[in-house]
Amino acid sequence: MKYISLLSQLKRRSEKPELKKSEINAQQLNQLSRRCVHCGFCNATCPTYQVLGNELDGPRGRIYQIKQVLDGQQATDETLLHLDRCLTCRNCETTCPSGVDYSALLEEGRRRVEKQVKRPLFDRLMRRGLLWLLPDRKRFALAYAFLRQLRMAVPKPYRNKITPVYSARSTPQASHTRNVILLQGCVQNTLDARIYADTAFVLDEMGVQAVVATGETCCGAVEQHLTAEQAALKRMKQNIDAWWPLLENGAEAIISNASACGLMVQEYPGYLADDAKYADKARRIAEKCVDIATFLSQQTLPDIPPPTLKVAVHEPCTLQHGQKQQGRVEALIESLGFSRVIVKESHLCCGSAGTYSVLQSELSRQLQQRKQAQLQAAIPDVIVTSNIGCLMQLAEDNPTPVMHWVTLLAQQLDQG
Ligand code: SF4
Ligand code: SF4
Repeated sequence: MKYISLLSQLKRRSEKPELKKSEINAQQLNQLSRRCVHCGFCNATCPTYQVLGNELDGPRGRIYQIKQVLDGQQATDETLLHLDRCLTCRNCETTCPSGVDYSALLEEGRRRVEKQVKRPLFDRLMRRGLLWLLPDRKRFALAYAFLRQLRMAVPKPYRNKITPVYSARSTPQASHTRNVILLQGCVQNTLDARIYADTAFVLDEMGVQAVVATGETCCGAVEQHLTAEQAALKRMKQNIDAWWPLLENGAEAIISNASACGLMVQEYPGYLADDAKYADKARRIAEKCVDIATFLSQQTLPDIPPPTLKVAVHEPCTLQHGQKQQGRVEALIESLGFSRVIVKESHLCCGSAGTYSVLQSELSRQLQQRKQAQLQAAIPDVIVTSNIGCLMQLAEDNPTPVMHWVTLLAQQLDQG
């Protein structure tokens, strides 16, 4: 594994051009797929290949299937199944020595396959339900409050996914010269209200004010991943309109404390590349958008009382493989003085992957149990991560407390 990782780093094409995801034509797709030299290194780090052992459920096999569709072969239910089973964790991109832009291929492949293969009715209804529910903050909060009340009536596989109500501190009221836009996300505040408040608190302790952008909406990732591209584009533009005046007014960064949302915003330029009104703004927005871990690692961290806890870190795929910030949270946890335990297979996905845990529940569960076992192997006092989906996935039926690492930092600051 170390050999593969080293080879990937040596051969990675750092000059990979920004891809216009808005209009990938057949020729570009063919060029992308031809980058694959079929070496199969990626299968060694692909979670679905690890679990299922089927070539068609690994990146090389999926690229082959997408290529067949591009070459005019009719997609089948099987093609759709193997593409649906992909977590979009991008571990394969980290591993690939040829710099294959797998996620761009998959996104376009899914779009084309969905045009040829009709999903079963239940699947279509589930997807529509998720699209209706998740990106709308108020709707989701209401529905989730209802779910919490009716917990025992929820079917068993989903019951233990329901989080308790976490009480959050009040958000700081002090104003500072330094300020940043702090993303609110769509479902995060309902699922764990501590994360936003704790991030604002930590920033405040460092003399940085967290500002909320009026009119901000979901980043668009849910819709983009469920191939509702037009709805996703609308949200991207709405967000740019909401953030732009604050950036013009001196906000120094756009901070995300959910790595999946942060990655989506960083990819806005690809989706809006041909939009005359938004292309330049999308590029500037993406440059300004950083994960809270990336932002804090460039600052002087606040003094905290010496920690005594043993911590296991799970870095989400969207942070390590998407944002290419591998090791960022681990390094921060260590520099804060916590004792970090070594976790095997830290590159592997926990099986959450946005709506994957609902749409591919059995595979998701297998990956969840594998990840939980690796995280608990060294008997940590606490498990930390940096994306709400992963947090929920790891917390399910887990005797060890699981929280966002910023919450852990905030709790340590409280002891000072
Ligand atoms: S995607 Fe990359 S690692 Fe995987 S088979 Fe193709 S070239 Fe090899
Ligand atoms: S994105 Fe993840 S699950 Fe999908 S092919 Fe790549 S490594 Fe496998």
